[in-house]
Amino acid sequence: MSFLLPKTRNEILNLGIMGGTFDPIHMGHLVTAEVARQQFKLDHVIFIPAGIPPHKDIKTINNAEHRYLMTLLAVVDNPYFTVSRLEIDNNQPSYTIDTVRRFYEIYNGKLNLYFITGADAILDITTWKDYKELLNTCCFIAASRPGYSLSKLKDVLGPLSPEITKKIKLLEIPAMAISSTFIRRRVAEGKTIKYLTPESVEQYIYKNRLYV
Ligand code: NAP
Repeated sequence: MSFLLPKTRNEILNLGIMGGTFDPIHMGHLVTAEVARQQFKLDHVIFIPAGIPPHKDIKTINNAEHRYLMTLLAVVDNPYFTVSRLEIDNNQPSYTIDTVRRFYEIYNGKLNLYFITGADAILDITTWKDYKELLNTCCFIAASRPGYSLSKLKDVLGPLSPEITKKIKLLEIPAMAISSTFIRRRVAEGKTIKYLTPESVEQYIYKNRLYV
């Protein structure tokens, strides 16, 4: 797996991992990653489309290669963003802990990792593989839509220790009013998706007749 390396051997990298299904990627995801990058002083954000999302019926989502290519098209103009095939090439369910462990290996532990994803995705974190280790080894940035009620997340986090809960940061992102579901539905109904996703992704969707 080739990635950017620290500028000096002893430098600790602040790295964001943007995990999601990205079916398709949209402006909400991109704004989330950019706001997180600035707010948490991340050196770089690596988008990792899930190969086989562990909690989803694989038949209901698009082919991983399409999702990977759309993600690649979407990040091309941001020098701080990259896309990784780590989970796509793995051919196993994409457990976040395995990805996080792999990153620590690659960077010999010289890393502060921030896992960025949707607040709703984090709601069932206590069912994720080795979640305690996960919460001990990286911070979570939970992107929420405007008006998102924090109470559900607080209920989930309540029983966890304060040291762990303080590692979950909530970020309200107005652009997350856009969702992948919304885009898929609009394409199926023949409605415009202009400005909801980068133009290159929009064209990719039409060219490959996705979501029709
Ligand atoms: P999801 O259930 O499809 O998404 C839940 C919500 O979060 C949706 O509203 C979704 O909006 C939003 N969302 C997803 N990724 C986002 C991102 N990167 N930034 C902002 N919002 C995001 O969740 P998912 O995409 O399948 O999973 C999210 C991540 O959690 C993936 O990396 C997955 O591998 C990981 N995960 C790991 C485990 C485990 O290790 N056991 C279990 C579950 C999930 P959109 O639909 O618009 O994206």
